[in-house]
Amino acid sequence: MATVQTILDVDYAVIGLGVMGASTLYFLAQSGGKVVGVDVHSPPHGLGASHGGYKVTREAVAEGPAYLHFARRSNALLRDLEQRCGASLMQRTGTLIIGSEATDSTSSFLHDTVRIAKANGIPHEVMPSKELRRRYPQLIGVADEDAGYLEPDAGFIRPELLLDLQIALAEQAGAQILRNTAVKRIAPISGGVEIETEEGLIRTRQAVVAAGRWMGELLGDRFSSLLTVSRQRTFTFRVRDAAAYRAERFPTLMWFRESVGGDCATVFPSEGSGVKFFVADTEDDPRIGMSGDRFFERHVEPFFAGLSPQLLATETCFYTSTPDHRFLLDWHPDIPGLFLVSACSGHGFKHAVGIGETVSAVLTGKPASDLSAFNLTRFSANLQGD
Ligand SMILES: Cc1cc2nc3c(=O)[nH]c(=O)nc-3n(C[C@H](O)[C@H](O)[C@H](O)COP(=O)(O)OP(=O)(O)OC[C@H]3O[C@@H](n4cnc5c(N)ncnc54)[C@H](O)[C@@H]3O)c2cc1C
Repeated sequence: MATVQTILDVDYAVIGLGVMGASTLYFLAQSGGKVVGVDVHSPPHGLGASHGGYKVTREAVAEGPAYLHFARRSNALLRDLEQRCGASLMQRTGTLIIGSEATDSTSSFLHDTVRIAKANGIPHEVMPSKELRRRYPQLIGVADEDAGYLEPDAGFIRPELLLDLQIALAEQAGAQILRNTAVKRIAPISGGVEIETEEGLIRTRQAVVAAGRWMGELLGDRFSSLLTVSRQRTFTFRVRDAAAYRAERFPTLMWFRESVGGDCATVFPSEGSGVKFFVADTEDDPRIGMSGDRFFERHVEPFFAGLSPQLLATETCFYTSTPDHRFLLDWHPDIPGLFLVSACSGHGFKHAVGIGETVSAVLTGKPASDLSAFNLTRFSANLQGD
């Protein structure tokens, strides 16, 4: 049997350089240790989840209090990065969340968002449907029961710019980047982890795996049956009334619409000739055709004025989710020294810089924020046997 040559001996290796891996790599590279980042493609690329030009951010995260620290740290760290590098990584257009007040549910996304904002002193404004219609006349589908939450300091992050910058800064700090290099196998060895790549073996004291939708493929059956991958599509339609959709008049928007079963449309301000839309699960919705016509009829036309059905672009992106839809941030149960960063489903981007900082602190033995809400033991029953 041919022996595989060892190509690197390092302190820390990061497998997968989407936003989770790139953020972790960036912080590990500042630690003074010997660091390598490996990706099967050349990130940023459009094959995983960390692309698409725009990712919504907001600080009042209705998904649960365990996420608040990451959202806050990410925003603060993004500001630091912008100041240090003179880059514009985030557009602070404000994020507007619209939802129905009619629902008695005290756990609606809108209610939860307002509650978290109030409890944590996050600047915001709440407005009734009348005020929404006055301020945003382009939103023609606002129902009487709708209300809005506006977080003025929020907006959207530019994913490709952030990834480029974090990887470049990691390289400047001494990290080695192996692009277009597939990891084939990860195994425990005495004192660390061995990573088999197409080029040879990497031996490392500790490693992080952040392989997005390929996590199961890399870690084996137990993980591929734990993690669900779903294909999502975004649509960009030509804008007729360009001024109405520029950031000065149109914030980053998340709109939960009762008339379409509570589906949330995520919409970004226009920076050219189109407006970008995303509604989760459209790929599996038989009413939505590849041409975008049905998407336009269902999700755009009844709600937004001044847009044309002409589809300018459509993109694919993948969600990776755990059974309870919470992230997975924990050590591998059988490979000591291997840390898992995964399943950041539809809302991971806004937390990624904060997660990278925390994971790097965990590996380098620095004080780190509590990750118990994201542990693997909650799935012990699902993970038995291989
Ligand atoms: C349509 C869509 C819209 C979204 N919108 C938002 C939003 O508005 N706001 C928000 O906060 N979040 C949003 N998200 C979620 C967010 O984008 C993801 O949580 C995040 O990008 C996940 O990043 P990741 O690094 O885990 O995965 P990925 O970006 O998929 O990165 C994984 C990396 O691992 C590499 N890799 C895989 N296998 C191997 C291997 N064997 N060897 C080497 N490298 C490997 C891949 O090449 C890839 O670069 C959205 C997601 C989608 C799909």
